[in-house]
Parts: sequence; structure tokens; C-alpha cells
Amino acid sequence: MTLMITGATGQLGKLIIMELLQKVPPEQIIAGVRNPDKAAELQQSGLEIRLVDYDIPETLESAFRGISRLLLISSPHQDDAVRLVQHKRVIDAACRAGVEHVFYTGFAFSHLGSPDNVHARTEQAIVDSGLRYTFLRNALYMDFINVLGLQEAVSSGVLATPPGDWCFNSVTRRDLALATAAILTSGQHDRSSYELTAPQTWDFTDLAEALSGLASIPVIHREAPGIQHWIYNYLSSINTSSTTGDLERWMGRPVTPLKESIADFMKAD
Ligand code: NAP
Repeated sequence: MTLMITGATGQLGKLIIMELLQKVPPEQIIAGVRNPDKAAELQQSGLEIRLVDYDIPETLESAFRGISRLLLISSPHQDDAVRLVQHKRVIDAACRAGVEHVFYTGFAFSHLGSPDNVHARTEQAIVDSGLRYTFLRNALYMDFINVLGLQEAVSSGVLATPPGDWCFNSVTRRDLALATAAILTSGQHDRSSYELTAPQTWDFTDLAEALSGLASIPVIHREAPGIQHWIYNYLSSINTSSTTGDLERWMGRPVTPLKESIADFMKAD
């Protein structure tokens, strides 16, 4: 079995490859990269590197030759229309190259909203292609907490957020990578979808409690109507309150606790 990971120099791609290396020999893993200059570390791990640029269709079909399982990591492009075009290029090239099975990393909460969103449309394009497929619908990355002013909350003892009924299903990329590697290296998974989400959500009171535990000083949550930040507009446009056991089942362990998940961001904040 030969596995290819696209976006392999990205944050999620690199973590998935690290997990795969615990499970299969490097000769079975091929890193699909847009910029080979960023791939030195992957090459040092013994991986074959192939140029895969969603914007350069000529790179795709040849890169996908001989691949049994292709993990298409969704494009980070800001414009969803462009992302969809990029994803469709990958799907078309995978068909032409004879890829056996496509795995696609989408977003767990998209299908609850418009069926017209980029992930739903990419999934439909994969279904229509006739390829074997598996959809890995990821939870919200934990990163958004980075802009919530955690250091300020620790300094002032108050985590201030806009009023609202906020609750989140967010996880670390490490947890997603562990589950993804387990899925890629096991079973058939044909026509399967996994919601790689945590079995419980958290709210700002939980976050204040986690901050108290990390900083060893009391931090309370307080609603502050004046607070404005683009992140709250984004968060109010998605509903991430649904939960599943899929992520933990595939990780084979509990999701990383909130306190541990935010520790890295506290250092960087
Ligand atoms: P990331 O660190 O930005 O990595 C994105 C990867 O895509 C990079 O390797 C990048 O290559 C590659 N890439 C960009 N344009 C490309 C192109 N035209 N052709 C081929 N590869 C291209 O993102 P991540 O953190 O690993 O996340 C993976 C994906 O999850 C994102 O792309 C986005 O679709 C999605 N996402 C999910 C959430 C969530 O909360 N679940 C949040 C944000 C994003 P370079 O290394 O050369 O730049």
C-alpha cells in the first residue's frame, strides 16, 4: 500500500506523516508538496517527495501514479470557489492516475449548514467520480483560542467575552493526526464518513477554569458586551456544538484535555 499526503509541509500534513511513520515504513509514504524547498525534514525521514500543486494541474496526474490511498488535505485558499476548483483538479487527476481510494479532510460542522459549502461540494465531487472514498470531517482546530486574549485574562483574572450561548467542539491537530493515521493504515473505510470531533464541548467558563489551573491563579469568565473581534463573527456563523465518539475511537485514547491543549498557546500568546 502506498499512501500520499497532500499539503504535506502544512501543520496537519506534517503531524499526520509523523504518526504514519510510527505505523508503516517510510517507503510506503509519499509527501505531496507545493514547495519542495520546505520538504527537507520530510526527505530526511526517508520519504519520497513529489510536487503536488493544486494550481498546476500538470503536477497532479504524474504525482498520483502508483498511489493506493490519497489523502487530500483541503486547500487553505481564502476563496472557497478557488478551493473547490483546486479540489476538483485533484479528484480528476486521481481518477486518471488510477488512485484506488481518496480520503478527504473536510469540516465536521459544514454539513449542518448549507449543502452548498466547499466541503459538501468536494465530497459530492468525490462521490460522483466513482473513486472509493472516505470523508474525515475534522473538528474546529483549537487555534482560535489564540486570539481570545488568554495572557490578558491571566494578568487581570478575568476572561472577558461577548455575551452569548457559546460552546465549542475544538481539538488539537495532534489528536486529528493520530486518528487520521490510524484510519489511513487500517480497514477498507469505503463510502465511510467519520466526524473527528470530541465527545464533549466546552464553554468560556471551562476555559477560565483551565486558565486558572494553568496559571495557578483564579480566573473568572465575565460577559462584556463591548468586546469586538472578527473571531466572534466567525464563531457565531458556525455551530460546533455536535459531538461524536469517532475521534476517540480512532485515536484509541481520550482527546487531549482543554487545559493541556491550551498550554502551548499560553506560551505563544
Ligand atoms: P496549513 O498549515 O496552512 O497547511 C496547508 C498546506 O496546504 C501547506 O502544506 C501548503 O503548502 C499547502 N498548499 C497551499 N496551497 C496549495 C496548493 N495550491 N497546492 C498544493 N498544496 C497547497 O493548514 P493546516 O493547519 O495543515 O490545515 C489543513 C487544512 O485544514 C487547511 O488547508 C484548511 O483547508 C483546513 N482548516 C481547517 C480548520 C479547522 O478548524 N478544522 C481551520 C483552518 C483550516 P505550503 O507549505 O507550500 O504553504
